[in-house]
Amino acid sequence: MDATINLDAAVRTFLANTEEHLSSYLEACVHCGQCADACHFYQASGDPRHTPAYKLFPIVKAYRRQKWPLSWLGAPKVTAADLQEWEELLFDTCTMCGRCTIICPMGIDIATIVSGARQAFAAAGLGPADLVAAAENARDHGSPLGVTPEKFKDRIEWIADEHEVDIPLDKAKADILLTISSIELMKYPDSVAAMAKLLNHAGVSWTFSTKGYEATNFGYFAGRPEIAKAATKRLVDAAEAIGAKTMVIPECGHAYGVMRWSAANMLGRKLPFQVLHISEFMAQLKREGRLKLKPVAEPITYHDPCQISRRGGCTKEARYLLDGFATDFREMTPTADQNWCCGGGGGVQAIARAAELRYKVFKIKMDQVEATGASTMISSCSNCRLTMDESKAHWKWDKGIGSLVELVADNLIEDAPATGKPTA
Ligand code: SF4
Ligand code: SF4
Repeated sequence: MDATINLDAAVRTFLANTEEHLSSYLEACVHCGQCADACHFYQASGDPRHTPAYKLFPIVKAYRRQKWPLSWLGAPKVTAADLQEWEELLFDTCTMCGRCTIICPMGIDIATIVSGARQAFAAAGLGPADLVAAAENARDHGSPLGVTPEKFKDRIEWIADEHEVDIPLDKAKADILLTISSIELMKYPDSVAAMAKLLNHAGVSWTFSTKGYEATNFGYFAGRPEIAKAATKRLVDAAEAIGAKTMVIPECGHAYGVMRWSAANMLGRKLPFQVLHISEFMAQLKREGRLKLKPVAEPITYHDPCQISRRGGCTKEARYLLDGFATDFREMTPTADQNWCCGGGGGVQAIARAAELRYKVFKIKMDQVEATGASTMISSCSNCRLTMDESKAHWKWDKGIGSLVELVADNLIEDAPATGKPTA
């Protein structure tokens, strides 16, 4: 046995995570195999190990050994070899997209089980080094890409200057705390400027905060609940300090899922503000008649980020925004809650060794877009966008990939010009 693998800690964590509803999921699987065709990894590779139910093997084994009603018959133990074999399957071949759950006749939430199982691998000292490093960077420096509060401030000042947009930073009081993904901050700064433009256009009281800005949560992906909780608390504390009524989550799927659906449980209390994804915020402005847009005639399709649409519940918002604005909007097949994942969610984007598999998965999306005849695919998740941009470069694909918030901000009919200064 590899002496560096803490098998006891893994088994303890598996068992702790099979309390309550997860154990009923593990009991419910009827081994029908229908989930295989729902998973983009299986679709892309044809490898039977990529079948969703197969990824549950180590946690099922630990459960059967100690908690199964028939365990007295003598079920086999989880071994270090099991953990070594399944590590890649649990981290590289599950984006926690939830597509298998909507196909499964028993409604088994494999994404949540994978998330719990990853905690056991982390407790054993396992997990892809780059994903673990990103989570530890978030804990130690405030962001997975090492964007410290000082770097955040510098970058925001640069974006305000470059895009001639007013960006409030560290206002003492504001109704809205806007958050960012450091993927946007470092790779897609136009998205940060676009969000600022929109909030300014709406005339709301808002600010960024150097006390809490990073919306991504790599602790959640890496199976490190203590890091996930600390990152969540940092944002919640920052919102409470300014008396925010709303926290706006940027174009990041899992950031929305964690803050909207898990944060209150993580912290053990209700959040004293509402959580809106930026697409929900824009849809709200449109409903209130506060979004004046120039129509876009280019043929456009929309990629649903799994954590915003299928798992997040915001499938309709993007379509409501695009309705009457993108005048040649084309849906992919399948779409909306049945969409195919980009291949990089659940932290898979950050795992270098998974790149070839991501590229293969992206071919599903390329075929979908080609079938629509659209020239551009937009999305509302910067992690999807980065995954898709890298895959696009790999395949030398000629279609455009863009952002919903940028599309909206670029076509705003503005009443008054901005001054291009950070404000406090
Ligand atoms: S959650 Fe998504 S990636 Fe994970 S096993 Fe299910 S379909 Fe595959
Ligand atoms: S579809 Fe559901 S019941 Fe069938 S094998 Fe997959 S997880 Fe088990």
